[in-house]
Amino acid sequence: MADSLLSSPGLTTYDILSRHGVSRRDFLSFCAITAASLGLEAQQVPAVVEALETKPRLPVIWLHGLECTCCSESFIRSSHPIAQDVVLNMISLDYDDTLQAAAGHQVEQIRKDLIEQAKRGETEYVLAVEGNAPTKDGGVYCTVAGETFLDVLRETAEHAKFVIAWGSCACNGCVQAAAPNPTGARPVHECITGKPIVKVPGCPPIAEVMTGVLTYVLTFGRLPELDRVGRPKMFYKQRLHDKCLRRSFFDAGQFVESWDDDGARKGWCLYKMGCRGPTTYNSCATFKWNGGVSWPIGSGHGCIGCSEENFWDDGPFYSRLAKTPLPGIEATPQKVGIALTAAAGVGIAAHLAALAIKRGRAAATENKAKEA
Ligand code: SF4
Ligand code: SF4
Repeated sequence: MADSLLSSPGLTTYDILSRHGVSRRDFLSFCAITAASLGLEAQQVPAVVEALETKPRLPVIWLHGLECTCCSESFIRSSHPIAQDVVLNMISLDYDDTLQAAAGHQVEQIRKDLIEQAKRGETEYVLAVEGNAPTKDGGVYCTVAGETFLDVLRETAEHAKFVIAWGSCACNGCVQAAAPNPTGARPVHECITGKPIVKVPGCPPIAEVMTGVLTYVLTFGRLPELDRVGRPKMFYKQRLHDKCLRRSFFDAGQFVESWDDDGARKGWCLYKMGCRGPTTYNSCATFKWNGGVSWPIGSGHGCIGCSEENFWDDGPFYSRLAKTPLPGIEATPQKVGIALTAAAGVGIAAHLAALAIKRGRAAATENKAKEA
C-alpha cells in the first residue's frame, strides 16, 4: 500500500502495474472490461489503453470530512482481479487521511505543496472528497491539523482541476445532514463554488462505478456527461425498478406483504415493504455488490434509495412510496384518477394507474359480455 502512495512523478499507470507483476494480457483485459462498463464502443478501448500507458498518473488529494469511510472500503474492494491494483496505481494518491502511511504535519505539508505547485502551473490535481463539512459554530465539529474541514476543503478545491464527491455524504449530506442536522453538515457543492463537480452518490457507491469514474477522468481528462443532479449518466441513468429481477411480480400485482409471508419466500416484489427502486437511479441492478454476488433487492430487502437526495428524511423506510392503487388490488379508474392527481409527477403512479385502468377496462368488457 505504501508503495502505491508514492508519487513517482512521470510514471504511467501501466509502468506501475508492470512493476507490480501485472501481465499485459491482464492489463488489456481490464481496459476492455472498464471501457465496456463506461458504455464505450469497442473501438474506444485503444484510447483507454493508450491513456493508461502514456499519461502520467493523476495526482489526487482525497479528503475525509464527516463520514464513516464506507466509500474507501468499497473502493479498495473492486471486484476485477487487478482492479485494486489499477485503481490504487492509476492515480497518484498523494494525500488520503485514511490510506496514507505517513501522518501529522508531514502529510499536511504534502497537500499544501501540491496546492502551491498547482498555483504555479507546475501540476494539476483532482480533489476527491469523502464526507461533508459541518458549518455550524465555525465548523468546529470536524478539524484536521487544527484547521476546520470546511477551510481545508475550500483551500484544496480552489486550485483543483475538478472535484469528485464520493458517496451520499459528500453529494447530498446523508445521515449527518438529516433533520435536525445538529452540526450544520453541508454537501460539497454547497461549500465550494466555481469548480466542476461530479457526484458519485451511494452509501457507499459501487466500487466499479468509482473505478469507472476515475478511469474516465484519467482517459479523457474531463468529467463524464452528467445528469440533472450532477451524477455521471453512464452509471446513474437507469432506475433500479427498470432492471429489477422482481419486476415481473410488480407488473403482475404480486407483492410481499410481510417479511416472512409466502410472497417473500417466492421472491415477489418488495414495493409494499417500502422499496424505493421505482424512484432510485443507480447501477446496483447492473453491477450488483461484492463482485456481482448479489444486491439488496436480490437478497430480499427493498432499496432504501441511498443514491437519491435526502434519502434519510424522505422516510420512513419500510413504508410504501405513495398511496396509489396497485395492480392486483381492486380499484376503479375514477379512484385511480384521483390518486394520480394527488401523486402528480410521480412516475410510479402513472405506471400503476395504467395497469389499474387496463384491468378496469378488461373487467368492464367482461361485464358487458356477460350482460349481453
Ligand atoms: S418496487 Fe422494488 S422490488 Fe419491486 S420491481 Fe421495483 S425495484 Fe424491484
Ligand atoms: S439497492 Fe438502493 S439502497 Fe441499496 S445500494 Fe442500491 S441504491 Fe443504495
